[in-house]
Amino acid sequence: MKRFEYSRATAPEQAAQSASVKDASFIAGGTNLLDLMKLEIETPVKLVDITRLALAQIEKTTDGGLRIGTLVTNSDLAAHPEVIANYPVLSRAILAGATGQLRNRATTGGNLLQRTRCYYFYQTDSACNKRNPGSGCPVIRGENRTLQF
Ligand SMILES: Cc1cc2nc3c(=O)[nH]c(=O)nc-3n(C[C@H](O)[C@H](O)[C@H](O)COP(=O)(O)OP(=O)(O)OC[C@H]3O[C@@H](n4cnc5c(N)ncnc54)[C@H](O)[C@@H]3O)c2cc1C
Ligand code: SF4
Repeated sequence: MKRFEYSRATAPEQAAQSASVKDASFIAGGTNLLDLMKLEIETPVKLVDITRLALAQIEKTTDGGLRIGTLVTNSDLAAHPEVIANYPVLSRAILAGATGQLRNRATTGGNLLQRTRCYYFYQTDSACNKRNPGSGCPVIRGENRTLQF
């Protein structure tokens, strides 16, 4: 893993300011970003930890929707009574993914902004057009049964 600077944000404005330098990244649960950093697929020079921000609320909106804070964990979202009652497909979809330990750590924002879960993307001795443009895509001729993304 490449060296990086680390800072912990205490307010959203400070997080945005802190992450405004080139090649900085927010880090939430870290369940995707840290894997990518260990493989050196992503090499941020600075991590801005947003986990202490007050962004883990789930609230109904006046127009009948649901506002989900970026730091709501996958476990909390799947178990929320409002989600179970009115968005059961969302709850079931979350529970179909990953493992209990990962869902306890993974956040909504991180889930939406994670990189592809294609195996070849994480297998750095393999070609992958997304990781290394022009290198090819083994999925076209290779094992692709579980690669639905
Ligand atoms: C073994 C395994 C199995 C998995 N299976 C599934 C699965 O079946 N289905 C599925 O959907 N996912 C699956 N995942 C992925 C998992 O859901 C994600 O790793 C997780 O949701 C990422 O959330 P995080 O908070 O850990 O994000 P992080 O790893 O902290 O961040 C991921 C990315 O999001 C960015 N980011 C995070 N929060 C913000 C924010 N507020 N604003 C801007 N950028 C932000 C970060 O900078 C980073 O680029 C699996 C992961 C593993 C390791
Ligand atoms: S489908 Fe092909 S190009 Fe896309 S991530 Fe997988 S290997 Fe890379």
